[in-house]
Amino acid sequence: MTELIADTEHNKLMTAISEAHQGGEPIPCMTSTRPLDWISDTTADQRRAVAGCAVCPLAPKCRDYATTFKEPAGVWGGTTPTDRGRTQMPRLKKVQVTK
Ligand code: SF4
Repeated sequence: MTELIADTEHNKLMTAISEAHQGGEPIPCMTSTRPLDWISDTTADQRRAVAGCAVCPLAPKCRDYATTFKEPAGVWGGTTPTDRGRTQMPRLKKVQVTK
């Protein structure tokens, strides 16, 4: 149930980010020349992403989502996985494939 709520909130946030970007608002993770900084596991890259988030109009909403659901990877709302008490790990789950 928690995963469903997390997915719903994730989708809402992604929609808000997309709409803001398409509406011309400056969303750093969408306009940066270094977008991979937001999903990097290196400290230097994450610091640049955190600096980008600091001027983002969606930062409070993004940070609330990431801290509430302990988003396991990436920089969200100026927080790193370490800030959220997580070690860097992929968000996707492994699934069993049968042939
Ligand atoms: S706060 Fe950071 S991660 Fe969230 S939308 Fe803004 S730039 Fe992207």
